[in-house]
Amino acid sequence: MSRQTTPPIRSPHTYDAIIAGMGCAGLSLAVHLVRSAWAKDKRILLVDRERKDRNDRTWCFWEAGAGPFEDIVHRRWEKAWFHAPGYSGLKELRPYAYKMIRGIDYYRACMDVLEGHSSVEMRYGQIEQVSSTADAASVRIDGTDHHAVFAFNSILFEPPVIGRHELQLLQHFKGWVIETAADAFDTSEATLMDFRPAQQHGTTFVYVMPLTPRRALVEYTLFTPSLLAPGDYDKGLTEYIHSQLGITAYTVAEEEFGVIPMTNHRFPSRKGRVLYIGTAGGQTKPSSGYTFRFIQKHSAHIVDSLLRKGHPFERGGWKSRYDWYDSVLLHILQHRKLEGGFVFRELFRNNPPRRILKFLDDETTLPEEIRLLNSLPQWPFMKAGMWEMIQRLRR
Ligand SMILES: Cc1cc2nc3c(=O)[nH]c(=O)nc-3n(C[C@H](O)[C@H](O)[C@H](O)COP(=O)(O)OP(=O)(O)OC[C@H]3O[C@@H](n4cnc5c(N)ncnc54)[C@H](O)[C@@H]3O)c2cc1C
Repeated sequence: MSRQTTPPIRSPHTYDAIIAGMGCAGLSLAVHLVRSAWAKDKRILLVDRERKDRNDRTWCFWEAGAGPFEDIVHRRWEKAWFHAPGYSGLKELRPYAYKMIRGIDYYRACMDVLEGHSSVEMRYGQIEQVSSTADAASVRIDGTDHHAVFAFNSILFEPPVIGRHELQLLQHFKGWVIETAADAFDTSEATLMDFRPAQQHGTTFVYVMPLTPRRALVEYTLFTPSLLAPGDYDKGLTEYIHSQLGITAYTVAEEEFGVIPMTNHRFPSRKGRVLYIGTAGGQTKPSSGYTFRFIQKHSAHIVDSLLRKGHPFERGGWKSRYDWYDSVLLHILQHRKLEGGFVFRELFRNNPPRRILKFLDDETTLPEEIRLLNSLPQWPFMKAGMWEMIQRLRR
């Protein structure tokens, strides 16, 4: 008599949710999910190709009051300098504080919440595909498909193809954490933007985040269409440290290099049962490159949608006028209609920082936006505004 084995009956959904990528967006969403009532009796799979055990980046952002990651804020500043040729000002950032979180502290804090949580399973492997049918989302990990009711994808499998009517600049930066033998920094004052370095490559500025009286992060940053030769970043940093900070003797304790695409390309927000998150889901602010706070807001919005609608796809009340403002500023910078240093100088000279920061968070009211726009040269912005309006219709 042959023994027949009956395959176990499997639900088409092994998981309630699979999160592809355990970077900033994937971990943020997972933490928001497990802290919500939605996660009760749910199975969530998190996948990445590598363990997040390196300090691979530092996030800076501004926030009013205490945020969800307040415990791991590494440094915060309530005052910051803005410099450009012909103008320097020390700015009170209230009600905001400019905050810095080290990548490794963020990864550890998220892991502390997620590891051992009854709803969460973690797996390390190469994700080859994230797809959807009408009934299930599928994530292929090392050749095997895993199914879920929903998948959240933070992986950009291919760089986005920028269309003819779209814009893209690269925000590229090299940072050194420098150390001096004697006190050289005032830890209560950061430098948010310093446009005094040469602008021959395009929009170029430096920011300085003092960590202790003898230690600071100095970051040489550009918004240009292409990268520089490696030596040019070192030259920019060395010159700045000598000529603007007046420091000749120092050691470089840490180095960071990064590229953040600044684009008005329309990233997919959803395909079937897959929701795109993080940079892959268009959460990088096109005109500034800031992403961290947008990821936090998006995570909260997804959980809210799951709780109220039973699915994560409810569209936010995102105001499309901010997309248009981003396109106008990108247009001005990419086509060099005005120098970036000049635009930011006019903004900071004529507006309190809280209005500018609120605007960059997409949270201003129309009257506040009109005041900001009035502080800039009208004609180039009007022309760019009309042009970008037409491009939006063509896309
Ligand atoms: C150096 C640097 C500094 C930055 N600083 C700031 C800042 O100060 N403020 C700010 O607001 N924004 C900043 N950003 C922008 C943005 O906040 C970060 O890029 C952020 O990490 C984006 O989160 P994410 O989850 O979309 O992508 P990531 O954090 O990059 O996460 C993607 C994850 O997917 C994994 N992965 C990729 N492909 C696969 C695959 N095929 N299989 C399995 N796993 C895969 C990766 O290992 C990674 O863990 C910075 C970016 C960089 C690069």
